[in-house]
Amino acid sequence: METRRPTNPAAEEILGLYFPVLDHGFVALVDYMGSDEDVERAARVSYGYGTRRTSETRGLIRYLRRHRHTTPSEMVELKFHCAMPIFVARQWIRHRSASANEYSGRYSLIPLLFYEPEPAAFQAQAASNRQGRGGAPLRELHADAVARAEAVRRLAAEQYEWLVGHDVARELARIDLPLSTYTQWYWKIDLHNLFHFLTVRVDPHAQHEIRVFARVIAGMLKRVAPLSFEAWLDYEFRGAHLSRGELEAMRRLVRVDDGGLEARPGRVSREELARLGLAKREIDELLAKLATSPADEDFDLDPSAARPAEHFAREMEAAVPRVDRR
Ligand SMILES: Cc1cc2nc3c(=O)[nH]c(=O)nc-3n(C[C@H](O)[C@H](O)[C@H](O)COP(=O)(O)OP(=O)(O)OC[C@H]3O[C@@H](n4cnc5c(N)ncnc54)[C@H](O)[C@@H]3O)c2cc1C
Repeated sequence: METRRPTNPAAEEILGLYFPVLDHGFVALVDYMGSDEDVERAARVSYGYGTRRTSETRGLIRYLRRHRHTTPSEMVELKFHCAMPIFVARQWIRHRSASANEYSGRYSLIPLLFYEPEPAAFQAQAASNRQGRGGAPLRELHADAVARAEAVRRLAAEQYEWLVGHDVARELARIDLPLSTYTQWYWKIDLHNLFHFLTVRVDPHAQHEIRVFARVIAGMLKRVAPLSFEAWLDYEFRGAHLSRGELEAMRRLVRVDDGGLEARPGRVSREELARLGLAKREIDELLAKLATSPADEDFDLDPSAARPAEHFAREMEAAVPRVDRR
C-alpha cells in the first residue's frame, strides 16, 4: 500500500537492516517520522508538501540551525533498535530527552555476550584528557588482558547460570555480571535532541565505544533528513563556538569592512591570550580548534555491511544460559 507520509528512499533502503557495531552490538533504524520537509513545514506551518524548491528548504533549514530555532526539528522522530555493552548504555541513557525501553534482566535470561576491546582500541590512560585513553595501543598487554577478562567473565557467567539453574530470581542472578555484558533497547528520539546526542557522542572526546554507535546513527540520520544533517555537520560537527576572549583575539588579527575580511599584521601570543582572560587549557583548546579541522567524515553507511534482524536474534538466543531451555 502506498503511503502519503513523507518518506526518504535512502532511509527506506536501510529500514530494518541491522548494522553491526563492536563485537556483538548493532544499530537498526526501525522507523522514522518525517524528513527535512517536515522541519520546513513546521517552521512555515501553512505550506503543504512539494510547494517549495529544495534550495529554499535547504536555506531555511540552515537558517533555523544557525539561529537555534530548534522546535521545528522536534517534529521529526527516529526509532532505533540497538544492542550495546552496559557501560555504553550507561552513557547513552544520560540523554534523558529520548524514550528507551530496555531488555529486562528481571524478566528474561540475559545472553552471556561480553564486549572485548580490539587490540587497536586497547590504550593507556590519557595524559592530558583525564577521562580518556591515548597513545599507541598496548599490544603487548592485550593478550594477557583478554585472558584475564575471560577468566572473570567465565566465573561471572557460571555464577549466573548456577543461580538461575537453582531458580534464584533473575533480578538477583544478574547482579554480578560485568559492565561488558551486552544489553539492548528500543530508543526513540526527536531530531533536535538527536543532534545534541550526536554532537557530544561523535566528538573525539567521547569514549570510543559509544562513538562507534553514534557514527552509525549519524549515517542513518543522513538518509532520513540529509539537509538537516548537512546543517549539523557545518554548524556543529565541523563548526566551532568562540567565547568572548577568543572572538576578541580573532578581531585583533582580522579587520572587517563591507568588502570582507582583511588580515591585520601581528600575532596574538599565548601571553596576550592570557591577558584576554583565557586560562591555559582554554588557550590549548583554542589553538587545537583552529589548527586542526575535524576529520572529513561523510558518515555514509554501506548497506551491504548490514545483517537481518534474525542474525543477531540467533546470536543472542545462543548466548542465553542453556540451563533454562530444559
Ligand atoms: C565527554 C563527556 C563526559 C561526561 N562525563 C560525565 C561524568 O563524568 N559524569 C556524569 O554524570 N555525566 C557525564 N556526562 C554526561 C553529561 O553530563 C550529560 O548528562 C549528557 O551528555 C546528556 O546531556 P544532556 O543532559 O544535555 O542531554 P538530555 O538529558 O537529553 O537533555 C537535553 C537537554 O534538555 C534539558 N534538560 C534535560 N533534563 C533537564 C533537567 N533535569 N534540568 C534542566 N534541563 C534539563 C537540558 O537543556 C539538556 O541539555 C558526560 C558527557 C560527555 C559527552
